[in-house]
Amino acid sequence: MNPTVARTKEELLRALGERRSRGPIAFVPTMGALHAGHRALMDRARSIGGTVVVSIFVNPMQFGPNEDFKRYPRTFDDDLAMCADAGVGVVFAPAPEVMYPARPLVTVDPGPMGSVLEGHVRPGHFAGVLTVVAKLFNLVRPDAAVFGQKDAQQLALIRRMVADLDMGVRIEAVPTVREPDGLAISSRNRYLSPTERTTALALARALAAGARRAPDGAAAVRKEARTVLDDAATADPPLLLDYLALVNPDTLAEVDESYRGPAVLAVAGRVGTTRLIDNEPMEIGVPR
Ligand code: AMP
Repeated sequence: MNPTVARTKEELLRALGERRSRGPIAFVPTMGALHAGHRALMDRARSIGGTVVVSIFVNPMQFGPNEDFKRYPRTFDDDLAMCADAGVGVVFAPAPEVMYPARPLVTVDPGPMGSVLEGHVRPGHFAGVLTVVAKLFNLVRPDAAVFGQKDAQQLALIRRMVADLDMGVRIEAVPTVREPDGLAISSRNRYLSPTERTTALALARALAAGARRAPDGAAAVRKEARTVLDDAATADPPLLLDYLALVNPDTLAEVDESYRGPAVLAVAGRVGTTRLIDNEPMEIGVPR
């Protein structure tokens, strides 16, 4: 069955009305250009058993002035077909004026976790992300919301926002879905030329190489990943690295060399004009 498409807040509330009494609401926020990664999130949401709500909204507030807001892919008809196939009940696809009738003066401050890693490279990004997610949570009022591990910092910040602001939404995380060659699936991959894509594979290769050394400790993980990235920096076209970081998954603080426990190895960089991020969760210092 085709999902109900809501373009306004009123249409969304109407679409959710009777559905809310029929079971839990599981919510998947997206920016559209849906792919197999989004599909995995929808499948997880479906497994919760009630109504699945997907939002498709390219949120201007999370893009910097020189970023790709205008050229971000918009593929609504294909997105809707995927939602129908995944058993989504409601698609909320508002125009920017619906979400932001006026520039918001009150926004969500992500705190110190919002100014490291992606937040360091993209100032203001996470204030935009958390503000729109808070607005969407208030509109949809879901029981659970599903996010991808692909955006590890976003996931950590959303968990923290929900806890710190008592939002009462259960957050579920889905592992990163990858192409057969390891490249993390992203709506931005379509920007890559064949040679750029070859260089881009270094991100996933560096993470895999780092993860193999996890039992040997943080220094070994960083060194191994760095070697792969250094190589890619001299490729044609080159990888322009923004950061490589091995961090605590909850606090995003760099782990020190004696650390044992869960960590995320995160990497970001540019190939040509395309910016890519990837990460790999791992257990540091646990013998093989
Ligand atoms: P986006 O449309 O890029 O804002 O992403 C919407 C949601 O899909 C976020 O929770 C992302 O983390 C998640 N996502 C994007 N790509 C992937 C992927 N390759 N695997 C798993 N989740 C993903």
